[in-house]
Amino acid sequence: MYDFVIVGARCAGAALACFLGRAGYKVLLIDQYDRPGPTLSTHIIGETDVYDSLGIRKQMETAGAPTMTRMRVDLEGTVMEADMVITPRTLGLRRELFDAMLLKQAADCSRVQVMLNTRVTGVIWEGERVKGITCKRANGTSCSFYAKAIIGADGRHSLIAREVQAATIAMSDANHLDVVYAYLANVEPLPIPTVEWYWTDRGVVICNPIDQGLHCIALMLPGDDFSGWKGSLAACYLERIDQLKTLRPRLQNAQIVGKIRGVRRLVSYIRQPFGRGWALVGDAAAHLHPVAGVGIDNAVCSAWYLADELDQYMQGYKTWQHAMESYQQRRDERILPQYEASLKTLARTGRAFTDSASEQSLRMLCTFPSLVKALARRSEEVLTLLQGVIDE
Ligand SMILES: Cc1cc2nc3c(=O)[nH]c(=O)nc-3n(C[C@H](O)[C@H](O)[C@H](O)COP(=O)(O)OP(=O)(O)OC[C@H]3O[C@@H](n4cnc5c(N)ncnc54)[C@H](O)[C@@H]3O)c2cc1C
Repeated sequence: MYDFVIVGARCAGAALACFLGRAGYKVLLIDQYDRPGPTLSTHIIGETDVYDSLGIRKQMETAGAPTMTRMRVDLEGTVMEADMVITPRTLGLRRELFDAMLLKQAADCSRVQVMLNTRVTGVIWEGERVKGITCKRANGTSCSFYAKAIIGADGRHSLIAREVQAATIAMSDANHLDVVYAYLANVEPLPIPTVEWYWTDRGVVICNPIDQGLHCIALMLPGDDFSGWKGSLAACYLERIDQLKTLRPRLQNAQIVGKIRGVRRLVSYIRQPFGRGWALVGDAAAHLHPVAGVGIDNAVCSAWYLADELDQYMQGYKTWQHAMESYQQRRDERILPQYEASLKTLARTGRAFTDSASEQSLRMLCTFPSLVKALARRSEEVLTLLQGVIDE
């Protein structure tokens, strides 16, 4: 009998196990993998206090994760760049390194037992309450485990969410672009590590430096754009990024390292994250399209909120219902605005930037430094001023 069984040992599950283990709870952390390998991600990890509290921020930096402090937006060749807001910096680190760091932090907690190569196959009910899980080990043996609560941290295709029939609070697949990405060596770096966002006439390309001097370049395009790529994936991918005229000169010696990965038919959703004897965290509870670039932080921060509320429950300060409602409220305050914002971003991808008046106004902005200064000094009037330029 455990206090908690956590299904899924990547960023949501491993972080949760770490928080709960450190608080003294007996935790079983299960994953079907034998170690955290590469997984879908453009690897933009917003640096928040949570990585400090997990004790991995220094490790992330020493693993070579570049610290990106700037954001560059390229609108079909017109470039704007500035220091980032929202977070002062963000780190680029391959997931096999990042997830392994989190897993090690969890495994180092004496109260946390890590069980890999174990696929969870179902949940065990006692009346209307979940009380355990059934699993299959890699050697074919079956086993079951019981806990005060079962936590699904098992990602987008969450078995736990399916088994408990977690209700959907919000869902959209409107304008959801498919994603293909790869790591590239020898991309000429910008002088200051920067997140680069390219608006193309069809979608978005994101390019950012990661560890080992590599860059991760992700193409986010309508599904149709990838038809015909089968059999010549690398050539099509390189041809597509080569169309970006401000990136092209930096790709002269670029080479793809490892596999090209992708995902189709992405859906954004937010689910009811708890019920009797169960809770969901990370992508199992809410998934936003990767244009949001916040899935990792959301998974880890939600794990933080959940651990905090589970502790309140276990200490008897709150009932299960009260603790889980607080968890949901904290989760929703963080994720709901991001959900809306990411849908707006996706809606903008559907329109090519062909309006010559607005194109002209942006070029003017970049050509006349005094105009930029005038705009900056009159920030409250910026929108009106921009409108005036467009009207002219
Ligand atoms: C193309 C793409 C790019 C992205 N880029 C970014 C980015 O730049 N920045 C960012 O912050 N986020 C990004 N995200 C989102 C981010 O990758 C996810 O939000 C994050 O991985 C969610 O973590 P998680 O731990 O909840 O789930 P996952 O990472 O999906 O982990 C779930 C784990 O559960 C295990 N599991 C599943 N089912 C079972 C089972 N039945 N039994 C046992 N184990 C099981 C799996 O093996 C897996 O290890 C991106 C997503 C995509 C698709």
